[in-house]
Amino acid sequence: MRTWTRKRVLVTGGAGFLGSHLCDRLLAEGNDVLCVDNLFSGNRDNIVHLLRNPNFEFMRHDVTFPLYLEVDEIYNLACPASPVHYQHDPVQTTKTNVHGAINMLGLAKRVKARILQASTSEVYGDPEQHPQSETYWGHVNPIGLRACYDEGKRCAETLFFDYYRQHRLTVKVVRIFNTYGPRMHPNDGRVVSNFIVQALKNEPITVYGDGAQTRSFCFVDDLITGMIAFMKTPDDFPGPMNLGNDREFTILELAQKVIALTGSSSRLVLKSLPSDDPKQRRPDLTLARTRLDWEPRVQLDEGLVATIAHFKQLFQSG
Ligand code: NAD
Ligand code: UDP
Repeated sequence: MRTWTRKRVLVTGGAGFLGSHLCDRLLAEGNDVLCVDNLFSGNRDNIVHLLRNPNFEFMRHDVTFPLYLEVDEIYNLACPASPVHYQHDPVQTTKTNVHGAINMLGLAKRVKARILQASTSEVYGDPEQHPQSETYWGHVNPIGLRACYDEGKRCAETLFFDYYRQHRLTVKVVRIFNTYGPRMHPNDGRVVSNFIVQALKNEPITVYGDGAQTRSFCFVDDLITGMIAFMKTPDDFPGPMNLGNDREFTILELAQKVIALTGSSSRLVLKSLPSDDPKQRRPDLTLARTRLDWEPRVQLDEGLVATIAHFKQLFQSG
């Protein structure tokens, strides 16, 4: 029998970049938050400011193993997100996506919790449709180096929709496009953190390929607002729903912006393009705009300034 009045929210991957911002926001909205993380790519520093909060609890746990808890809502974010991290142990990445989804869906079914899955634009692979709308089925190499992540996330989506249809679970599947901001791991190899760290150290900026490939970068605050709004939508709306920012930049344009905003003397060096690196990516945000009355508000320059300030502080504090 339920004996608590505040909503109890489980955030898996809560010590990671996005998860820690989500924990902050959920606590600020008056929820009790349980953060579950195995600290593979996340960091205690991301949540250290929350450890004394009586409404926050941290549990070190790997989601590939079952978990028995009583909660009202689950945000399933556990999974390394950067190519360097998810390709480090690709079998574990697939297990985290698939076994993790099965375990969290089983938990949600037992306690009748609603559950949100952090899926990804990577389900579209190297897209042949541009911009990408939710109706596009994608163009993914099932045996490439990125497949542990892309196919793992696709299989997780399958599981979420089968639990929705078969067990009438309330699910929300959000496809997150490249998101950046404070608390990104400085060494996780993602383009925004790489370029800022390199620029602040006046080291060469590593542009992969010719830098003509595109991405659309969303500031973390906008993404968290959208995720929480999506969780609050009616039970019969599982998504999938794209969230991100639909301003598109080439990687070269990003490098030039970072150099200008840091005042760095770094020069650009061209490196080989990683395999299966998508050539272009931009979300069609029509669905999110219509259903959530949501809009990505932070422009790239503004978000980069905040992220640069974070990394400067990190390096100053040693
Ligand atoms: P992150 O690596 O900072 O966070 C992931 C967290 O999950 C880490 O704290 C990590 O330790 C934890 N984790 C990994 N495997 C685990 C396991 N087996 N059990 C428990 N915890 C585990 O990455 P992020 O950018 O914060 O991404 C969070 C989620 O959002 C991921 O699921 C990712 O796929 C998704 N996503 C992120 C982006 C982005 O641009 N940041 C884009 C698309 C999707
Ligand atoms: N990239 C780059 N230099 C780097 C890191 C990444 O040119 O130091 C490129 C990468 O090849 C890709 C884009 O930036 O085309 C985004 O890479 P990231 O790993 O951030 O995300 P994803 O490829 O998953 O979108």
